[in-house]
Amino acid sequence: MALTRKVLLLNASYEALGIINVPRAVRLVWKGSAQTIELDGDRVLRSQHFVFPAPSVIRLIEYIDVRGRQGRSSTKRSRILARDRHRCQYCGMRGGPFELTVDHIIPRSRGGRTAAENLCAACFGCNQRKGDRTPEEARMPLMSNPAALTYGMDRAVMRHAAESRHEWRKYLFMSDAEPAVA
Ligand SMILES: [Zn+2]
Repeated sequence: MALTRKVLLLNASYEALGIINVPRAVRLVWKGSAQTIELDGDRVLRSQHFVFPAPSVIRLIEYIDVRGRQGRSSTKRSRILARDRHRCQYCGMRGGPFELTVDHIIPRSRGGRTAAENLCAACFGCNQRKGDRTPEEARMPLMSNPAALTYGMDRAVMRHAAESRHEWRKYLFMSDAEPAVA
């Protein structure tokens, strides 16, 4: 049954947001919140009263600001430390919650925001050494881009799933994809 198949959910901007199941995708399309833009081959969903072509890729009608939403809920110290796997993002030292602090990558005094993308785990030594400077000024490059850490994980999952779903590839900007159609 096609109900266990996965559906790629795109933002109104065609940015891939994640993978959802068929029942949820169908509800979004039915409510008018999303439109089907790729079908899952010739699979159909049947009930007593209707036959519905199974969606493979759907797109939200209204744009949702994912980054803003994630920013609000993910600035907690414990979340930042977990996201950075309890490693100082400047020197790589691994530490417990009492050996690490949360650093503003662009200092607040320089206009840096308290948002997940601008926060990272840092040991006290690096935090002191960096002081009121940007990573460039302090010559302390980040080991990994914090935004890339959170978004990269989802993307890896989507790319893995896309290996068996050719029609997803152009939305994930994979190398053998056809050019995106707008
Ligand atoms: Zn450090």
